[in-house]
Amino acid sequence: MMTAKLFIEGEWVFASGGSFETLDPATGETITEVGVASRGDVDAAVAAARAALGGADWTGLLPVQRAALLFRLAALIEENAEELAQLETRDQGQPIGISRAVSVAGAAEHFRYYAGWVTKVQGTVNPVSFPETLHYTKREPIGVNALVTPWNFPLMILAWKLAPALATGNTVVIKPSEVTPLTSLRLVQLCAEAGFPPGVVNIVTGDGSVGELLSRHPDVDHLSYTGSTAVGRRITIASAESNLKRLTLELGGKAPSIIARDANIDAAVGGNLLGGTLNTGQVCAAYTRFYVDKAREAEFVDKLAAGMGSLRLGPGADESTALGPLVSSRHRDHVDRLVRTGVEEGAELVTGGSPVDGDGYFFEPTLFSGVNDEMTIMREEIFGPVLAITTYDGDAELDHLLARANDTEYGLAATIWTKDLATSQRLANGIKAGAVFVNMPPIPDMAAPWGGYKASGWGREMGPWAIDAYTELKSVWLHYGG
Ligand code: NAD
Repeated sequence: MMTAKLFIEGEWVFASGGSFETLDPATGETITEVGVASRGDVDAAVAAARAALGGADWTGLLPVQRAALLFRLAALIEENAEELAQLETRDQGQPIGISRAVSVAGAAEHFRYYAGWVTKVQGTVNPVSFPETLHYTKREPIGVNALVTPWNFPLMILAWKLAPALATGNTVVIKPSEVTPLTSLRLVQLCAEAGFPPGVVNIVTGDGSVGELLSRHPDVDHLSYTGSTAVGRRITIASAESNLKRLTLELGGKAPSIIARDANIDAAVGGNLLGGTLNTGQVCAAYTRFYVDKAREAEFVDKLAAGMGSLRLGPGADESTALGPLVSSRHRDHVDRLVRTGVEEGAELVTGGSPVDGDGYFFEPTLFSGVNDEMTIMREEIFGPVLAITTYDGDAELDHLLARANDTEYGLAATIWTKDLATSQRLANGIKAGAVFVNMPPIPDMAAPWGGYKASGWGREMGPWAIDAYTELKSVWLHYGG
């Protein structure tokens, strides 16, 4: 693979800013060198994306022809599925079963889903109150889109952006996370193989400063970003200070999980174990703050602790691994610091609590009980296998419980475990979050909107909502009277 190179205008070119290493988090060993894009490289990629917008071989394609390219890309992802899954596992540490079933299969499905949309994006004819006037709307590509992605689920999250961007006739400059760039580079190779014309898909690698160049670039029309809320704020300022480029922001989360008195505790333990520790807790919608009815606390804590204790830690490449490493030593130190803060602030450590000795960046699955709402572990995004339990006192406290669950800057996801329809509706209606899951783990699907309330972001991805995110709506007035 051309890992030390950038892909600009249909060519793999050496990065002018040098290179950096990407590491295997299960061993700490270097996998390969990746290029660092300079300001000149970023300018060249944006210019290539701009030029491709005018090309007959892209903008001039019929919808069926553009759809065929996306279908071909989906097929190529499937033809190379095992290689992509192994690469994702090596670079991010994801258990191989998740890489195959979620990351790679999900990416292929996303391209196929948006290939279907290409021939179905419609406008409307509108009853304006002007005589002899036809009014209609049409959707047009926004133009040059920067796609800036995080290190967790890098292939799948890139697909969430790239598929609707291409389906609607845009051109893109991709900037993957410097921590996990490899599957994004491989996907760009597959785009070229699928036949997307030069300049339509470009990729520049490097750290946050490369993302910042894109966020400040006067010729980027829209930046779609997934990552931390702190960087989302910086991107918003950069957009305001440059050309007010449109932004789609998918930011951090701290999802509450409410376990009601009537909950099926075994189902709640299974669903929350998955929802809290999938990808070693490195999931933006991970369930992390648990509000358990006091009457069920002991049973829930015991069973969840047993479940966490039974998770098999190991390299993602090992088929029997349930919990892989954290993505980097830096991130492991961040998780460790927050866990130690939990202990210092008086939370009771039920299980886990420490990094695992050795070369990889492993951390024990960790459960706290006796937590209160003000503790740091209840407020800050940990992004590791760390769950914190507090309690509430039955139905009489539901309004207060809602206020507690909503007492956060985040609003990405939430979950409720109950058999009672009325309780589920009261809580689902009251929670300020982009997605509420009743009796199930936080699984995204391309047919349902994905995005956050409050500081969890702006806009929605997936479904027809992503078509909106990657298009401008034009209003055409046609006076046909004399
Ligand atoms: P991050 O913010 O550190 O980095 C994300 C990307 O932004 C990287 O490509 C990075 O190089 C780039 N970047 C850094 N500084 C930049 C700047 N000033 N301008 C432009 N780009 C810059 O995030 P991360 O640590 O890679 O990812 C984890 C975070 O992502 C968590 O907060 C998680 O909740 C969030 N996330 C959200 C969703 C969602 O759908 N809402 C999904 C996955 C992850």
